[in-house]
This record gives sequence, C-alpha cells and structure tokens, in this order.
Amino acid sequence: MKVVLQNLTKKFPNRNKKIRSEVIAVNDFNIEIPDGKLIGLLGPSGCGKSTALNLLCGLQKPTSGKLFFGEDDVTDLPAENRGVGMVFQNYALYPHLTVKQNITFPLENLRGADKLTKEEMSKRALEAAKLVQIDELMERKPSELSGGQQQRVAIARALVKMPRILLMDEPLSNLDARLRLQTREEIRRIQKETGITTIFVTHDQEEAMSISDMIIVMKEGVIHQVGKPQEVYDDPTNLFVAKFLGTPPISVFHGKVKGGKLYLGEDAVLTMKNVDDREVWVGIRPEGFILDDKGAMCCKLTGVEVMGRDSSVISTHPTLEGTEIRSIISADSKVNEQAETVRFTLKPHKVHIFDKETEERIYFEAD
Ligand code: ADP
Ligand code: MG
Repeated sequence: MKVVLQNLTKKFPNRNKKIRSEVIAVNDFNIEIPDGKLIGLLGPSGCGKSTALNLLCGLQKPTSGKLFFGEDDVTDLPAENRGVGMVFQNYALYPHLTVKQNITFPLENLRGADKLTKEEMSKRALEAAKLVQIDELMERKPSELSGGQQQRVAIARALVKMPRILLMDEPLSNLDARLRLQTREEIRRIQKETGITTIFVTHDQEEAMSISDMIIVMKEGVIHQVGKPQEVYDDPTNLFVAKFLGTPPISVFHGKVKGGKLYLGEDAVLTMKNVDDREVWVGIRPEGFILDDKGAMCCKLTGVEVMGRDSSVISTHPTLEGTEIRSIISADSKVNEQAETVRFTLKPHKVHIFDKETEERIYFEAD
C-alpha cells in the first residue's frame, strides 16, 4: 500500500512550561512512500521519528495536514481501523500469556464480519510464527525467551492481522550487537516475503542504510533528504546529511575556492569549474583519499590500523574541523608508519563542498 503524507505537521506545547514556543516534532512532511518497500526513517534522537510513526498509525492526531493510504484519506480514521501493525523497541509482550496467546491477542477483538473462529486464529498465529521462525516456541512464556525471540514474537503479533502497513520504532535497540545484525536481516527477509510496505525507524545510519530500499533523513522535525541509501550517501544535499551517513564519518575541513582551485590551507587539492571564489566547508569521504607521495594534500600522520582488507590511515590537517581524518586505503598500499607526514590526492566525486552559512551543497564540476 502506497502512503502519502501531505503537509503533515505535529506541534506540541513545550515540555518546559517556562518556554512558550511550541515544539514542531513533525514539520510539513510531504512525501510519497511507494508500495511494498522497506523505508528507513532516520535521524538523531529527538528529531520526531516516533511522532511521525504515531501519526501514521493513528496514536496521535496531526495538528495539520493529511495522510492517505492508497487513495483513502485516513487522517481522521481511528487507529484500530487503519490496518497498521506496530512493533516497538520494548517488545511490550503480555508476560502472563504464552507466545501463541500473545500472537493471537490482536485477533481476539475482531468483531462482525472479521470475527475469526478459534481454528482460524490458531492457523493465522502459526503462519505468522513460521514467518519469523518461532513456531517451535508457541507454548513458552516471554520470560523463557531471549530478547531476539521476544522481538520476533512482537513482529509476529504485528503481522497476524495482515496489516496494510508495518511500522517499526527502533525495533533492534534492545538487542545486543550480534542479534541486532541478525534480526535486521530477518526483518529484511520478512518484509520481502510479505511485500508489506514497512517503515523502519532508527537513529543508526548503518542499520537504515543496510536494509532500506529508501531512506528518509530527518533532523529537528524536517525532512532533509529522501532517496536510495547509496544515492543519499554519494550525493548529500547538505552538510548535516553528509555527516550523518557513513562509518567512518566524512572528514570536514575549512576550505576556500580561489581562481578555480579548492584550497585546504596552502594546499590546492582540486581544480573545480563553476564555483566563484568563496569560503566553503569541504567534506571528504574516507575512501576519497589516495596515498600519493606527490599528492597535494599534506597531512600529519598519527597512526595506521590494518583491518583485514583495508587499512585505516589516521592523520590530521590544520584546516580539519574535528579530531582526526580516518582514510580507508587498500591494505596492499604500504604506508610508512615512521613518517611524520602522509600525502594524498583526492577522488573528486568523494569530495563535497558546502556553503559556510547555510551548509547547503555547492555543486562543482571537477576539471
Ligand atoms: P524521536 O523518536 O526521533 O527521538 P520524538 O518523536 O519522540 O523523537 O520527539 C520529537 C520531539 O517532540 C522532541 O523534542 C520531543 O521532546 C517532543 N515530544 C514528543 N512527544 C511529545 C509530547 N507528547 N509532548 C510534548 N513534546 C513531545
Ligand atoms: Mg523515538
């Protein structure tokens, strides 16, 4: 099911009663979420992700704007009639009920034409349990399950009503690192198998990047960029998005463009057309540095870490904003660890420049 948000806005009175201004948790969202895809809604803590999900599932009413599921205007439709499945960070299972009873719980309240017999309920519960691979555990209580298994029960419970849309609010946050990796792949598989339009909320860019068909990057209630994960990584519209995506993160420098050249301090590191002389923020991705004895960019070497296929060269530069540059170099290229400096040339498409004030991207043509 396609989901369309039209000027969707949610304001709250400020929690700090002394402050009169409102918090705009969701600020004028205009977006069309395609049918059958896995969408990662990504942003730092407090940026409005949960509020956006609550508006989608109907737990909260928007201050203004409209929401459509397919062609249906669901803005005023109560949560229980929206056909939305919801999974939360804290699995919120009923501790005194078995796995099977937890999964069938949402079906017990169906009335009228939707009412199911006991047999039908059991069948549906078993199908959902099989999908998340917990069908062997149906008679256990939540306390007899691992965190990962509990989260699977919560997912099965959200799927059992065959929702039109599945919403997940930081579903992996309570799991340890290994389970987090495994469960995110599971979520990807389940989404593909069911084809249910799924919106997955996380503050973890790597998590969103690894499983999403499309990501929505937001900050302080505002959508900053929407696109395929790789496209957003390669082509960020502003400095915030560039910094938020990628591990190790992009290195940011104070730079200037002068006479068609990009300078970091005294080093003229790139030639660029179409940009007038000005000061800029310069973002360079870790994979954008090429070791080169004759390279124009001269950095102070502070360390080298070899990690299997790649080496991480750690260095600093006088114009660097932040503590260190982590550049990723193929482990085959040898770095003289005793040297005081290291020189790089840059891959132009891994270098992005941004306006110093607005932090918006400035597009250049490399020469
Ligand atoms: P996230 O899920 O991205 O961490 P939230 O959607 O929970 O962010 O919150 C977004 C902003 O809205 C925050 O500033 C938060 O304090 C505020 N907020 C959320 N819910 C309420 C509420 N019920 N009353 C007042 N402020 C709220
Ligand atoms: Mg939240």
